[in-house]
Amino acid sequence: MSQTVKELHDQRSKLWKASIASHEKYINPRDGLFKDEFLEERKCPVCDKTEYLSIFTKEGGQYVKCSNCSMVFLNPVFTDEALTDYYKNNHSVQSELVEDGDPFYENLYQLGLDTIETKNLQGSILDLGCSSGTFLDLAKNRNWETNGIELNVQEFNMAQKKNHHVYNDLLENIKFEKKFDAITLWDVFEHIKNGGFYLNMMKDLLAKSGVIFMQIPSSDSLAAKVLQEKCNMFDGLEHVNLYGVSTIKWLAERCGLDVLDIKTVISEIGVLNNYLNYEDPYSGNTDNKTEIPNLINANELNEKLMGYKIQVLLGEM
Ligand SMILES: [Zn+2]
Repeated sequence: MSQTVKELHDQRSKLWKASIASHEKYINPRDGLFKDEFLEERKCPVCDKTEYLSIFTKEGGQYVKCSNCSMVFLNPVFTDEALTDYYKNNHSVQSELVEDGDPFYENLYQLGLDTIETKNLQGSILDLGCSSGTFLDLAKNRNWETNGIELNVQEFNMAQKKNHHVYNDLLENIKFEKKFDAITLWDVFEHIKNGGFYLNMMKDLLAKSGVIFMQIPSSDSLAAKVLQEKCNMFDGLEHVNLYGVSTIKWLAERCGLDVLDIKTVISEIGVLNNYLNYEDPYSGNTDNKTEIPNLINANELNEKLMGYKIQVLLGEM
């Protein structure tokens, strides 16, 4: 078992390094930050206010916290043009991580489907950023009619071969002929600069009593708060918006959406144990188990909504 964890961590570490290496051409070597030509300043993506606290820099990017609503976001952030260039030239890391049959992801996907099905049993589902269609496979097994959007051509082809109805274009460019009972975003929403704009667009695509489900990394998680800039949630470039429990609710309400369900998943206790033992948190070491389990308990952590990722279900008010 520990070997498997170690392997997973080694694989993640390799992909993390490759992803960070691709930042280099955008960075000014004099200050280690991204060059101005790729950047733009912005307002808080949740409350539109312009006052914020700089919290830390990470791999070229500057993270700030909104003084009004506590939203954590990159500011300045890559312009749309620079982001498009970046994604075109860098293979997505997440897609290599999520492999068919990985029980870790499969459990999270099934949990998401369970949550969706408490409100809406079957129908049509649209998965935004569906990658090679691993989540859609599971949805299909549960009798959903499966649709996806994937920009990466290779992954788009894979999903299409599995007989899902897949689009290879941006959401705003697609003319849909139908509405959806559920729209899902797995580790995608944190990549979107203007979350409110996208939420409104998705809301318009929902059938009657349709729902939006998303999994996002949580800036309110214990791991993020303890590790801060050492936490891999903060990559400096791709994760432009890091919502917490209150800020995702705030944004949803602004868009006329009700929070039907919210929970957190993934404790990251192993990573925290390593860090609290003065080791590299992402070393994959699992020997530090005995140090702090009485202080941090995975169930309690998630009951307090301080797990690493938020799974939230939204529906029209
Ligand atoms: Zn704000």
